[in-house]
Amino acid sequence: VSARIGRLVIAGVGLIGGSLALALRRAGAVAEIVGFGRDAERLQQAVAAGVLDRGETDPERALSGADVVVLGVPLGAVAGLMRQIGPHLPATAVLTDVGSAKASVVADVETALGGLPGGFVPAHPIAGTEKSGFEAALPDLFRRRRVILTPLASTEAAAEATVCDMWEACGAEVIRMGVEHHDRMLAATSHLPHLLAYGLVDTLARWDTTEEVFQYAAGGFRDFTRIASSDPVMWRDICLANRSAVLETLEHYRRDLDHLTALVEAAEGEALEAVFRRAKTIRDRYRPVFEK
Ligand code: NAP
Repeated sequence: VSARIGRLVIAGVGLIGGSLALALRRAGAVAEIVGFGRDAERLQQAVAAGVLDRGETDPERALSGADVVVLGVPLGAVAGLMRQIGPHLPATAVLTDVGSAKASVVADVETALGGLPGGFVPAHPIAGTEKSGFEAALPDLFRRRRVILTPLASTEAAAEATVCDMWEACGAEVIRMGVEHHDRMLAATSHLPHLLAYGLVDTLARWDTTEEVFQYAAGGFRDFTRIASSDPVMWRDICLANRSAVLETLEHYRRDLDHLTALVEAAEGEALEAVFRRAKTIRDRYRPVFEK
């Protein structure tokens, strides 16, 4: 293994933080994994489950001697977490995160630390499930998945290499892009679909009070709405943290939905078929990517 981290501190040991811990441990890429959290009992359970070596609720104890610190909390909790740990962050530590939007994390870190340290490397693993908590953590979660790093002008090359090696040790493929590009691309490919799935289930639930819709729901409904089982707090935070990019994609989509509505209204069969055909061609072309 190329990566070898001495002391890794995971602040927020949930699905993603827990899976990172399991993957790194299995790869032999870390000497000690410390969890920092708000609930001593939960941390103790994570130790018993073999996810952590030790759990701490005191930031000073948690961060002492940290080589790499990973923020694993929902986006809405990053600012508070950074205020807590900021004063105890070793000057030489590499700081990274796993948040689904990047600009908000960068802003929260900058505010809490009064600037952006060279050791800060924003990151986002493109992997997950609709489950939450370290109990659902999987050592293989990141295998053959992408991890996007959005290094900043302030990011030091050595810190970036450490975070890159860490994810590669989990079996992930690391790519890089700018913060803004990341946030717009993820708004379109992930945040919008989640909003649509939540919205569709909610619409039907309030519309059909007999719940007949759900009893007889066919495969299309099931496939389209699987992601509506995701954690509501996490998705609330993502929509707020990436608000402007999410609004942009929603507006775009709303215009296209109006167009589809108009086509159905006018019984424009040919035009509808053309839209479906275009979408099918694209979807079919990318099937190998989806099924990887
Ligand atoms: P999770 O399983 O719910 O874990 C969240 C962790 O943060 C838990 O350890 C929880 O502590 C802690 N936490 C929650 N709210 C907190 C608060 N207000 N203050 C302090 N700690 C708090 O979530 P996750 O799925 O791992 O997601 C974590 C991050 O990864 C999010 O930023 C999300 O955007 C990103 N992400 C998620 C996925 C995905 O598919 N799940 C994919 C890529 C990136 P307790 O154990 O005490 O509850």
